[in-house]
Amino acid sequence: MFIGKTALVTGSTSGIGLGIATTLAAQGANVILNGFGDAHEVERLRAGLAEAHGVQVRFDGADMSKPETIEAMMGKALAEFGAIDLLVNNAGIQHVAPVDEFPVERWYAILAINLSATFHTVRLALPAMKRNGFGRIVNIASAHALVASPYKSAYVTAKHGVAGFTKTVALEVAECGITVNAVCPGYVLTPLVEKQIPDTARARGITPEAVVRDVLLAAQPTKKFVTVEQVAALTAFLCSDDAAPITGAVLPIEGGWTAQ
Ligand code: NAD
Repeated sequence: MFIGKTALVTGSTSGIGLGIATTLAAQGANVILNGFGDAHEVERLRAGLAEAHGVQVRFDGADMSKPETIEAMMGKALAEFGAIDLLVNNAGIQHVAPVDEFPVERWYAILAINLSATFHTVRLALPAMKRNGFGRIVNIASAHALVASPYKSAYVTAKHGVAGFTKTVALEVAECGITVNAVCPGYVLTPLVEKQIPDTARARGITPEAVVRDVLLAAQPTKKFVTVEQVAALTAFLCSDDAAPITGAVLPIEGGWTAQ
């Protein structure tokens, strides 16, 4: 489906981003991976994806909190591939603390990685997309782009910002063959979330099963995690030709969380 197209997925060395990169590669896109991780493990992922799907896969370890490293990554990708046809802004971090105790440095880091990085990749990718009359931008936001939870002020602020940015850019490029959408997952069982289960079970003196049902999935009516593959499939659909009329949408994929 995406043969001859180039995809950049930020934060794709793990979790949701890796799932999206894998799905886009499986459908023929050349892929630029980005994120942190052990160099050998990252190279294993890169080479494995390229070999499994017969596509070009590059890795760029740009720190998405830094505009100048984002500019360098985008410059290199555009020089090599001519355009980034499918741009998936996925890199994200979390910090949980009451607002009056929130570390100032974490506030700025979350806004930089979860929100401003999206501004930078989008502004740098758009000129080539406009020249080609084609582009797909998918911003991985969160159910927290639509509703809040306590102690996540920076994350909720950044993700609501992503929703507003998505709608604004969608309107600006609506006649250019470019769509811009946000995907809003509920809880996805990535390594990040998995690691919290035993700690929370110990802290609360409850079983891991109770942590999943009564803590993590308390707000998720289906009582099921969303899977990486489901988020990747929605993202790939938004990148497809059939999704051309979907733009400026902020799409929940969260088991009914925000219907409440
Ligand atoms: P993850 O921790 O498994 O993956 C995050 C990725 O971002 C990793 O590849 C990491 O190396 C990369 N990253 C972190 N800081 C970076 C930086 N400064 N520069 C470049 N890369 C950086 O997390 P995940 O659960 O897969 O989350 C991916 C996205 O999905 C995030 O934006 C997150 O907010 C969103 N999300 C996750 C869930 C969930 O339940 N897991 C729910 C809703 C939304």
